[in-house]
Amino acid sequence: MPWNDKFECMPVEELQKFQLQKLKETVAWISEKVPFYQKKLKELSLTADDIQSLEDISKLPFTVKNDLRDNYPFGLCAVPLKEVVRVHASSGTTGKPITGPYTAEDMEQWTECMARNLWAAGVRKEDIVQNAYGYGLFTGGLGFHQAATKIGCTIVPTSSGLTERQITLMKDFGSNALFCTPSYALTIAERAEEMKVDIKSLPLRVGIFGAEPWTSQMREEIEERMGIKAQEAYGLTELCGPGIAFDAGDQNGLYINEDHFLAEIVDPQTLEPLPIGEQGELVFTSLQRRAMPMIRYRTKDITRLWREPGHEGRTFIRMDKIFGRSDDMLIISGVNVFPSQIEALLLEIEEVEPQYRLVVRKKGYLDQLIVQVEGKQAVYEAGSERRHEIEGKIAAHIKGMMGISVEIDLVEPKFIARSEGKALRVVDERPKQLR
Ligand code: ADP
Repeated sequence: MPWNDKFECMPVEELQKFQLQKLKETVAWISEKVPFYQKKLKELSLTADDIQSLEDISKLPFTVKNDLRDNYPFGLCAVPLKEVVRVHASSGTTGKPITGPYTAEDMEQWTECMARNLWAAGVRKEDIVQNAYGYGLFTGGLGFHQAATKIGCTIVPTSSGLTERQITLMKDFGSNALFCTPSYALTIAERAEEMKVDIKSLPLRVGIFGAEPWTSQMREEIEERMGIKAQEAYGLTELCGPGIAFDAGDQNGLYINEDHFLAEIVDPQTLEPLPIGEQGELVFTSLQRRAMPMIRYRTKDITRLWREPGHEGRTFIRMDKIFGRSDDMLIISGVNVFPSQIEALLLEIEEVEPQYRLVVRKKGYLDQLIVQVEGKQAVYEAGSERRHEIEGKIAAHIKGMMGISVEIDLVEPKFIARSEGKALRVVDERPKQLR
């Protein structure tokens, strides 16, 4: 049974009525409290009364990351700072950081959303959970921590990094669940193999992985290497952090916490809403947040939505695994390429490790894609002829499946830096003005 069957299994019609009510309240709240939105709504001559159905959401303006940056740190806050009990922030590697403030009520809601995620993955009070998401400004560490506290688990707050210690503690404490990014899970699995620790024979049963795109093939790889079930968490700082969507025991799509977040898919170019089932950019409106409500926030994440009766009676709309971020989309020989497509194909090649990096360079006027992937030890040591053979095989597989010519660089094991958080998949070496 779900954590909160009242909401998670609510009949769709009732759920949508609830969403409409909360949407109206949110629009009224921001019109009153946030000058940024007040101005935008005034320009469009809109008030909360113009929201009569869920479809009316398309009348509302979009919000983008730059709006948060321009209003850094607290310009979009709808409450005085004395009402704010916590502030998280994104890493800021791609520019000024953005902030995520929470009221006490927001914290409770976030914890509730995350508890649904952990519960759906089968995490219970009896479990020892090792939380290897980074603690601190990043929403991952504390987001998982609060929900595990709520369920009553025994938490081992390792945070990310110090991989050997992670493995030693996992063994000594008998952790049942691991929370971290999928790329860090792989780093842990690999280090354990080097330390001659057989994770499969430990009590570890389940992992909840997220915060970066990963394919179903990567999920299978992790499940096999660790002997666990690999479940998923999705979210972003702008909306609360993890807890927006999660998968359940059937591992068939991610259920969106619809009583808190209204999802849309839009065409990333025209910004027109797309019908359910079509792939496009995911857009969220928060329905209950108080400190920093978001209206039609453009996530840049590409996926598709669908609704059908769900696992254990869930009624929430589902989204596919994120296909990629529109920011990471490359155009190679006129073809749109997402790193996830290359990842899926590389994982079908048995001679390589699941460690790769895409390097983009300019060759004349054209973009050139170099796929660096680690060969397995034995393959790498078999000499250059064997390596070229494998490179040719991978290039032909990618050409056959995607129709693009890429250069494969079979690199030695451990060549690619191991991730402790979000993996760096794309290295863009094109001059800035030519990207
Ligand atoms: P930053 O923008 O600094 O990376 P966030 O931690 O808020 O900060 O990152 C949110 C982004 O992480 C999402 O927009 C999405 O691209 C990615 N993400 C989070 N969870 C997942 C997931 N389960 N699958 C794919 N991508 C994810």
